[in-house]
Amino acid sequence: MSDDKFFSPTADPVTPDPTPLYGSCQCNRISYTVTPQPHQPRPSGRSYPIKMIDHCQSCRRAHGGLLTGWVISPPSFGRLNLTLDDGTVKEVTLLDVVDAYTATTKESITPSMKKYPGSSLAYYASSEGVIRNFCGDCGTSLTYIRDRREDEVREKVKAKIERGEELTEEDKKWKVAVFDFTMGSLHDESLERCKADSQWWWNHGVKWIKEWAVGMGDECVRCDVYPDGNDSAEKIVVKADLQKEGH
Ligand SMILES: [Zn+2]
Repeated sequence: MSDDKFFSPTADPVTPDPTPLYGSCQCNRISYTVTPQPHQPRPSGRSYPIKMIDHCQSCRRAHGGLLTGWVISPPSFGRLNLTLDDGTVKEVTLLDVVDAYTATTKESITPSMKKYPGSSLAYYASSEGVIRNFCGDCGTSLTYIRDRREDEVREKVKAKIERGEELTEEDKKWKVAVFDFTMGSLHDESLERCKADSQWWWNHGVKWIKEWAVGMGDECVRCDVYPDGNDSAEKIVVKADLQKEGH
């Protein structure tokens, strides 16, 4: 991951609290853990996992809820336990989940829905280069995973598919810097330890829900953009901004 803009390969690693977070879907056929590990510092100096809320229209409609919370980490933090059709349990990494999806040529690019083999873990491609996982048995929304390759790279692969050409293993390989688990699927005890400290896509939010965010205190920062893409945005405090805006 050293070639990724989210990490500085020269800095000393930061060591977050290694206590795992646990979550599962409503029917418990899919459970997961997030185990924080030492990692290269983020530009803001904060460590993973990121704990944020979002109520942009896309997040609201994806989950049917007013607010969505996301726990965001490098893929090495995450493991899923899938109860298979034969009753056995299989542990998979986030990269296993992505690889199973992209192994099928056309469906790695075009919106589609399918499941991890033998399990209830379903995929929905909400846009190009983005998949969301949910439990196909009970419907709980679980992940958001984005391919962070450059658009031009994906365009080239798309053109190959349109021409009916065979894709190479490299063509199918997504670049996943971070992934998101839905905060609402965490178990109570883990959620108690995972208080959201920022709201993203502030300008895409709803005014009265933003006012609730003031109740999260001065520690809750607002971000108009993806924070690591514009680090200064992460330092803006919700309460002060709302006062300035006359709310
Ligand atoms: Zn389920």
